[in-house]
Amino acid sequence: MARIVMKFGGTSVADLDRIRNVARRVKAEADQGHEVAVVVSAMAGVTNQLVGYCQSLSPLFDAREYDTVVSTGEQVTSGLTAIALQELGQDARSWQGWQIAVETDGEHGKARIESIEGDELIERMRQGQIPVVAGFQGIGPDNRVTTLGRGGSDTSAVALAAALKADRCDIYTDVDGVYTTDPRIVPHARKLSRITYEEMLELASVGAKVLQTRSVELAMKERVRVQVLSSFAEGPGTMVVDEEEVVEKEIVAGIAYSRDEAKVTVRRVPDRPGIAAAVFVPLAAANINVDMIVQNVAADGTTDMTFTVGKADMARALQALNQAKAEIGFAEINSDPNVAKISVVGVGMRSHAGVAGTMFKTLAERGINIQAITTSEIKVSVLVAAEYTELAVRALHSAYGLDA
Ligand code: ASP
Ligand code: MG
Repeated sequence: MARIVMKFGGTSVADLDRIRNVARRVKAEADQGHEVAVVVSAMAGVTNQLVGYCQSLSPLFDAREYDTVVSTGEQVTSGLTAIALQELGQDARSWQGWQIAVETDGEHGKARIESIEGDELIERMRQGQIPVVAGFQGIGPDNRVTTLGRGGSDTSAVALAAALKADRCDIYTDVDGVYTTDPRIVPHARKLSRITYEEMLELASVGAKVLQTRSVELAMKERVRVQVLSSFAEGPGTMVVDEEEVVEKEIVAGIAYSRDEAKVTVRRVPDRPGIAAAVFVPLAAANINVDMIVQNVAADGTTDMTFTVGKADMARALQALNQAKAEIGFAEINSDPNVAKISVVGVGMRSHAGVAGTMFKTLAERGINIQAITTSEIKVSVLVAAEYTELAVRALHSAYGLDA
């Protein structure tokens, strides 16, 4: 007998028939004698609609009220799923974040979980009741509802699995696992049976939208065994595991892309110590994450600083930089939202040279210009014009021998 957290994403609970299907799958696990806790997302599209409502009323909305609004999607599905389980004769009840409590910090809109009180839920699971937990939400130090950032119910599920000391956290979604790349772009992409936490982390953070990045970080830290699988198909998915558990290590495990970033160039700033701090400290103060950074030095003692931020943060980044214009001393700022970041990821890169070279050569052969580059131990990312996204992904998928 195992203890399992089952998490269902928005497409898996998109309508009442799908919620009934979820209830059947949950009950099937419980019928096998497992202790089960469920975490649900909002019905597909609902969170976007709620976010849209806030933005329409005010572009600079109060983040605490935003959380009050957008957290409701999960409240609805937790109650509906509990009802569907009860209809099958299965004891179940819904739990909101504040009831458990899922305690978070006070960063409304992108709060981090600090602790989860698991005892009550464990006790009820022992008695055969299934807790159906509203994902994505918690309660902050200000005693108000918080949300965990878009895609945050994955993190709710992993954190709950850690708090409940679950044997496994199964993340049910509309794909049956993690692929070598997006099958919508490369139809012969392969499903991976296993992937390491680190690879998954890199893939998640560079745009493979299967799992929220933070959920993978947490799984790695807490050693939660995560499985990604489909709620529509039977059969195993992809297990996210320790590196030791992966026997056949590919040099490149997967290729990801992201169109969520925008490029910002601060032109002709003085090339002197402290200039990077002058540019990036105001962005950090505005809670804006910067990703890729390139600095070009011109002969006249000035430099251009190019970097990327999330597309949603672009307007605020430009505002923060313009407010700091006196300290930075730039000539102008250019911005370009029409960019894509393409990344190749694999733990095998640690021991194999030439991965970056193959990437640059492959893109050059297709006439694709590289606007920025970043690397980590197991990843190489390039920024290219958004129109080349598909071409670049397909070419790289073949170049690294990933085609099925
Ligand atoms: N419903 C939230 C979102 O769409 C959380 C989640 O689905 O993970 O971002
Ligand atoms: Mg999701």
